Amino acid sequence: MTAIELISLVNQLLFVGLFVVVAWRAVRARSRATFDTALLFGSIAAVLGISRLAAAAEIVESAAIIGVLLLLLNLAPYAMLRLVDDFSGTPRWVQVAGAAAYLIVAALGFTFQVAPQLVELATIAWFVAVGGYAATAFIRESGRTRGITRHRMTAVAAGVILFIGAIVTVLTGALVAPANPVIGILGQVAALAAVLSFFGGFAPPSWIRRVWREPDLRNFIERSIHVVSIADDRRAIVELQQAAAAAFGATGASIGLADEQNGRLRYPDAGSGWLEYPDGQFIAGQAYRQQHRVVADDAITADPDHADVYAQNAARAVIAGPVTAGDRRIGVLAVFAERAPIFVEDDLWLLELVADQAAVLLEARMLAADESRLRGREEAARLKEEFLSAAAHDLRTPLTVVLGQAELLERRLARDPDARIDQAGVSRIAGEARRLRDLISELLDAQRLEQKGAIGERTRTDLRLVIDAVRGRHLEHDLSLEVAEPSGPIVCAVDRKRIEQVVDNLVENALKYSAEGALPEIELTTDGTDARISVVDHGIGIPEAERIRIFERFYRATNAQSITDTGMGLGLYICRRIVEEHDGRIWVEPTPGGGSTFVVKLPVAGVTRDPAVEAAVIEPETRPATGPATEAMADA
Ligand code: ADP
Repeated sequence: MTAIELISLVNQLLFVGLFVVVAWRAVRARSRATFDTALLFGSIAAVLGISRLAAAAEIVESAAIIGVLLLLLNLAPYAMLRLVDDFSGTPRWVQVAGAAAYLIVAALGFTFQVAPQLVELATIAWFVAVGGYAATAFIRESGRTRGITRHRMTAVAAGVILFIGAIVTVLTGALVAPANPVIGILGQVAALAAVLSFFGGFAPPSWIRRVWREPDLRNFIERSIHVVSIADDRRAIVELQQAAAAAFGATGASIGLADEQNGRLRYPDAGSGWLEYPDGQFIAGQAYRQQHRVVADDAITADPDHADVYAQNAARAVIAGPVTAGDRRIGVLAVFAERAPIFVEDDLWLLELVADQAAVLLEARMLAADESRLRGREEAARLKEEFLSAAAHDLRTPLTVVLGQAELLERRLARDPDARIDQAGVSRIAGEARRLRDLISELLDAQRLEQKGAIGERTRTDLRLVIDAVRGRHLEHDLSLEVAEPSGPIVCAVDRKRIEQVVDNLVENALKYSAEGALPEIELTTDGTDARISVVDHGIGIPEAERIRIFERFYRATNAQSITDTGMGLGLYICRRIVEEHDGRIWVEPTPGGGSTFVVKLPVAGVTRDPAVEAAVIEPETRPATGPATEAMADA
C-alpha cells in the first residue's frame, strides 16, 4: 500500500466514523442542526463508500455512478449552507437560491460523460462559492461566540476551508495535470486535516473539551467567589447572575431562590426589590419543579404565557437547571440568549457546573448568615450579662448608702418623732439617689447606643455654640473653663444635644481625674475639612497601653481606680459611639507636661471628601497604642 493509499484509507475511516457519531447524535437529539450535520458527513461518507464499492466492482466509469457520486459530493456544500442557517441564521433567499443551485449542479453531474470539464468547473465553482460563504460565516460566528463554542466554531470553519481546499485541489488537478501524484497527496493531506478539524468542531474528544471549557469555569469562579461575603442578598444574587451570563457569553442569566414552604421562587427585579412567582412559572420554574434541566430553543413558543417577559429580556432561547446542594433545593439558574445554543451539550454541561458552583456559594452565604446570627445572639447574651454584673456592682454602692441613711432616719424618728430633721443625712440620700439615677441613665444610654440610629436628627450647628453651652453649665458651678476658638463659625451637621453630651463628659472626666481645682481647657480648631474639639487636662494621664481600651465598655484604667471608685467605665464608650455615629473619631493623646488631651474630630458640613486623601490623613491616627496619638478603634 502506498502512502497516499494509506492516508486515503485513514481519511475514509475517519469520515465514516465521524458520520456514525453525528448520525447517532441526530437520532438522540433531533434538531435541524443535528440533522444537517448528519447530512454533511453522510454525503461525504456515502461518496467514499460508493466509490470504494464501485472501484471494487470496476464500475467507476459508469455515467450513473459518476452522476450519483457528484450528486452526493455536491450535497456537502449545500449541507454547510444549511448549517450556517442553523448556527447564525441566513436570509431566506440564500437558502432557496442555494437549494436551486444545488439541484442544477447535481443535475449537471449526470452529463459528465458529455462535457466532463464543464461539470468539473461547475463543481469547483459550487464548492468555492458556497463553501467559501459558509467558511466566512463560521469564522464570523466564532468571533461572536466565546468559550468552548468559539473553539468549536473555529474548528468547524477550519474544517470547511480545508475540505473545500482538498476537493478543489483534486478537481483542479484532474483538469490541469491529471497524472501528477503530488496533487493527489496534497488533496489527501488537506482532507485529513479537514476531518480532524471537523472532529474538533462537531465531536471533540472529552480531553479537548476539558481544556477548552476550563477557562470559562475558572472565570466564573473568580468572578463569583466574593459573593459569599456580600452582605446584601439581592446584590449577591445579581452579581452571581452577571458572572453566570459572562461565563456563557449569554445575554443574561437569572437566579431564583426557592421558598420551599410556600412553593415560590424569588428573583431579583430590575430595581432594588424582588419578584416572586409560584415555582412552576417560566421555563426556569419548570426546571425547578421537574428538578431537571430544560432547554427551550424558542422560549416564546415553549412558554407563550410569558412571551412579553422573554421578548423584553431578548431571551429567545433559554436553558435552565435546578440549583441544589445534596437534597436541598436552593433554587434555579436560567441562562438566556438571542439564539439557540449552537452546541447545546456544552452549554448544558457548563450550566450544571455553574449551578453546582452557585449552590456552593449560596450555601456558604447561608451558613455565614446563620453564623453571624448566632454570633449576634451570643454577643447580645454576653452584653446582657456584662450590663447586669456592672449594674449589680455599681448600683449597689449608692443603693446601700441610700438604704442605710433612710433606715437610720427611720429609727431616729421612731425613737423621737419630734427630733430635728438630719439635714446632712437627707442630702446624702438625695445625692446618692441622683447618682443612682445617673448610673441607670448611663447604662440605658449605652445600651441604646448599641443599635445604630440612636442619634437624633442632625442639624447644621456652629460648634462654638456647643462649647458655649458646656461652659455656661460649668459657670453655674463657679467653674470658669478656658476656651480657645476661632472668631468665625465652624459648622458641622450634628445632633447638638449628643455632641454637648460628649464634651460635657470629657470635661467632667478631666475634672474627675485631675487634682482638685485644676481646670481643663477646651480648644476648637478646623483645617477646613474637619473640626476638632480638644479637651486638655493636666491630670493623672492614662498609661499608654490602656489608651485604646478606655473607649471599651466598662473599661477603667488601672490608675483611675485609686482616684475614685465611682464610675462604671461607660462614659467614654458612649462618647465613642456618638462620635462614630457622626462619622467622626475620638482619641486620646498625652498632654505635654502631663495629663490627657481628648480629641473629637467631626466632618465639617458640606465638604466633599476625597477618599484617598481621607485615608492618608486618617491612617497615622488609627495606629495601635504605639504612637503618641491613639485613636479608638471602630470595633475595639
Ligand atoms: P468612668 O466612669 O470610669 O469615668 P469613662 O468611660 O468616662 O468611665 O472613662 C473610662 C476610663 O478612662 C476611666 O475609668 C479612666 O481610667 C480613664 N479616663 C477617662 N478620662 C480621663 C482623664 N481625663 N484622665 C485620666 N484618665 C481618664
